Formats: sequence, C-alpha cells, structure tokens
Amino acid sequence: MNPASTDPQTATAQTQLPRPEEIQELVRTGLSACGVDFDSLLSAESSGTLPVRSPITGQTLGHLPGDTPDSVSRKIAAAQAAFEQWREVPAPVRGRVVQRWGRLLTEHKEELAGLVTVEAGKTPSEAAGEVQEMIDICELALGQSRQLYGKTLPSERPGHRLMETWHPLGVVGVISAFNFPVAVYSWNTALALVCGDTVVWKPSELSTLSAIGASALLRRAAEEQGAPADLATVLVGDRGIGELLVDDPRIALLSATGSVRMGREVGPRVAQRFGRSLLELGGNNAAIVAPSADLDLALRGVVFAAAGTAGQRCTTLRRLIVHSDIAEELTERIVAAYRTLSIGSPTAEGVLVGPLINEAGFRKMQESLEAAVAQGGEVLCGGGRVLAEAAPEAYYVEPAVVRMPGQTPIVEEETFAPILYVMEYTDFDAGVELNNAVPQGLSSAVFTSDLAEAERFIATSDTGIANVNIGTSGAEIGGAFGGNKETGGGRESGTDSWQAYMRQATNTINYSGELPLAQGVEFI
Ligand code: NAD
Repeated sequence: MNPASTDPQTATAQTQLPRPEEIQELVRTGLSACGVDFDSLLSAESSGTLPVRSPITGQTLGHLPGDTPDSVSRKIAAAQAAFEQWREVPAPVRGRVVQRWGRLLTEHKEELAGLVTVEAGKTPSEAAGEVQEMIDICELALGQSRQLYGKTLPSERPGHRLMETWHPLGVVGVISAFNFPVAVYSWNTALALVCGDTVVWKPSELSTLSAIGASALLRRAAEEQGAPADLATVLVGDRGIGELLVDDPRIALLSATGSVRMGREVGPRVAQRFGRSLLELGGNNAAIVAPSADLDLALRGVVFAAAGTAGQRCTTLRRLIVHSDIAEELTERIVAAYRTLSIGSPTAEGVLVGPLINEAGFRKMQESLEAAVAQGGEVLCGGGRVLAEAAPEAYYVEPAVVRMPGQTPIVEEETFAPILYVMEYTDFDAGVELNNAVPQGLSSAVFTSDLAEAERFIATSDTGIANVNIGTSGAEIGGAFGGNKETGGGRESGTDSWQAYMRQATNTINYSGELPLAQGVEFI
C-alpha cells in the first residue's frame, strides 16, 4: 500500500532541473573561490574512493581520495604539534585568525553557499543563511577571545585568594552531519581556535566538498595571520574514519553532530577512554498552538519549520499539538499552504522545497508514513515522490501532513524527512506533556497570546530550545544551541559554550606568610 496522498494538486513540482554541467559549474566556481582546484581535487573513479554526489540531480560528480588510518594518525599528530605553538599565542591574537576567516567567508559567501546547495540540496537563501551563521560565529568568537574569564572567590583562610582559570584543552575532533555541512563546523572551530585548541574535522561523507571549501578559507586566514598551518585539518571519509577520531586518546574533546544512533555509539567509546564529548544529536520537535494564538503567524511559523529544508533540519517541526477548538481550521490552512509550496531543484527560481538527501532518506519517509497509517494516522496531504521521471536518481517528495489519533510509537521517532504529525489537546498541561513525551529534547515552541501559558511552557517544556510565537527552527548565534535527553546534552555557539573547549583549573593563592589548612584542620 502506498500511504501517500495521490492528490495531484498536493504541491507544485517544478520540472526544470539543472543540467549536470550546470551543477559541475557551481562546484567549480565554489571551490575556486575557496582556492581549491576542482579538476585536481576530483580525480577519476579509479584513483578516488569517496563518491561525491548531488541530491539535486543524483549525479556523481567524481571521487575524492579518502583518508587512511595512517594519514589520519599523521594529521592528528600535526594538529597536536600545532597545538603546542597555538596555545602560547595570546587569545585576542588568536581571535584575529577567526576574524580573518569571517571576512573571507563574507567575501565568498555566495560561492560557498553554492557548494552547500549542490551537496545538501538547500535553497540559495537557506544555504546563504548557513554561511551567514559561520560569519556570525566568527564575530562572536572574536569578541569571546577577550572574554575567556574566570571567577575570583572569597577564601575561608585569611590572606588567601581562590580563583578559576581557563586553559587551552588540546586537539578537538569534530564530526558533523550532512544537513549543516559547514555551519556546525564553524560553531565548534571558531570557539575552539580562540580557546587555543586545534581542530581535526571529519565532515559528513555526503557533503565533503563544502567542507573542503570552508576549511581552505580557514587555512588561508591562518596563513595570512602567520598561524600554524595545521591548526585546522579535514579528514575525508565515511564513519570508519570518524571512528578513528572517537578512539584516539590524542583527541581531547570530540564534538559529534548527527543521529541519536551515532551518538549512542560514539558517546560510550569516548567515555571509555575518559575523553570529553559534546553531543548534538537528533531532535523530534513539537509546537503547541493554543486557541489564543495569532493563527496567521502560527501558520507561517509551522510551515517554514515543518517543510523548510525538506524536513532535514535537526530542529524541523515534526509534531503539531493543536487545541481541539482550532485544530480543524489550522490543519486545513496548513494543507492549503502546502499546496502552494514549490518543490524542485533549489537552483530554480521560487523553489522552497528541495530534494531529500538520498534514496535511503526517501525509503525511511515511506516506511514512516506506512507505520503512521498502520497506527491510525490519516495522510491529509503529500508524502509522494515527484520528478522521478526527470531525475530518477534524485528524491523529491511532497511534504506530508498526517493526522494522528494521539501519541503512537512512530511519533516518538525522528524521521529525517518532511512529515508533520498533527495531534490535538484540550488541557494545556496535557499538551505540554505530549510535547515532552518523546525520547529526544532539542527544540519546541508554543504559539499563544496568553502570558501565563507562555511562561508555563518555558518552565515545563523539557527541550534545550523552547520558543514562544516562533517556530522550532532557525536558531541565532549567541544563544547556546543544543538539546536534552537523547539529543545528547551538548551546547554550542553561544553563552558559556566556550567553556567546553577549555580546561578549568581552580587556583588557591596564599599571600599570608602562614599555612592555615582548610576546614580548620591542624597538622604540623
Ligand atoms: P549520521 O549520524 O548518519 O552521521 C553524522 C556523522 O557521523 C557523519 O559524519 C558520519 O560519517 C559520522 N558517523 C556515523 N556513525 C559514526 C560512528 N559510529 N563513529 C564515528 N562517526 C560516525 O547523521 P546524518 O544523516 O548525517 O545527519 C542527520 C542527523 O543529524 C539527524 O538525526 C539530525 O537530527 C542530526 N543533527 C543534529 C544536529 C544538532 O545540532 N543536534 C544538527 C544537525 C543534524
């Protein structure tokens, strides 16, 4: 059975797909702006091992030579040697490398965004937004380079002072996911660099070209500022290469972004060697819409968060918990809005929903829709594949809205595709309970004009991000980003997250000329 709606008017599919040469040209331009030569990078199939593919057409652009255990070990050793120099550079001077990186990113924003579009299938506006996040974190990190402060505390002993100081940690390993091919790297790297660390990055095997471009700009910035060349290195390969970072005791902190499955494997292995990890894992985000909500605003917030980026954001809205008094009206309006969404190549004018990353993503979406129907769900629109004839190797889908009878097992899973499950509530606290009734805890939102409800939501939603009158996605640099429960507990890109990249020491300074012991203990 195909649970997807067969209504041909579910959404508008743009049939215009770019020719393979146009995709190649975007890549050539993007890489060249970053100082990387396309032709020498993408060798013939025989010499490269890692295929590079665009989800827009499904075409393979070439093959990259992958790293090996030996080359990984050498790169970590080089990052370690660079750390010994870099840690000695004053933090505000380290900030200048990040500042320069930010300026280069600003200069080449459009071209780097082009690489993100080709590899992740994001619209130019969303891809540019991703690069803008990189620029923003560089600005934040530059300021932070003068703010790596510790506290001074009163000592219980006369003539003593207690203080905390923060020191560079070592080599930071970064593992990142395909859907934010460059931003997540910069959240980690800009802060790690000003903190005095060096970075070895294993990007997703599905978005390596964007990674090579972004990191080439950083290497250029480092070179121009006279910083060690190996302060930031990229590893090319799949999860097997990532596992080498996980198990290497020279990696002081492993920051891993990806699925809960990945985090479940990585977290215990890093802990086993007493390394530090920072986990940014899957989300299963909900929005509550109360009867007092401004429905026009809620509608826009819901549609962007649920269907934007083809449902492939960790913060994508996956569960809509709507008051029964307005459920019918809001659901009808969402379905009507979905019909106006233009689906197709993100390179085409006006397209809002690009492709899924690959066939596995498409299959998972179909399986989840089947499970939802088997569990009593009703597909109100979408779910079907479009443009299959024009691009048999690419996977475009109509975003789906599914009315659920309540909480069922499929609703507790993150399916990385545009499926919005709609459930109803009558009592506000029961609505928040539904919001919290999943294993993940990344982002949530409430749409309400009732101040008490908004405050109750902030106090009781158990997610790392809890918004009022905006959707679940689209976080800003400055606020710490991350989630609770199976989302992993990590925080990046704002407030005190810099502390994850440093080693803390508590220092007691005695200027009394005596040696009183703490807690009044007497000895000699
Ligand atoms: P994924 O888990 O398949 O892969 C992520 C990265 O981990 C890749 O680089 C992969 O090579 C590597 N990897 C996988 N298994 C590994 C292992 N055992 N050891 C070492 N490395 C391993 O995720 P994906 O499909 O690329 O991305 C989608 C997922 O990422 C979704 O679940 C999404 O919610 C999540 N995500 C979370 C955040 C966040 O900040 N919380 C941000 C973006 C994406």
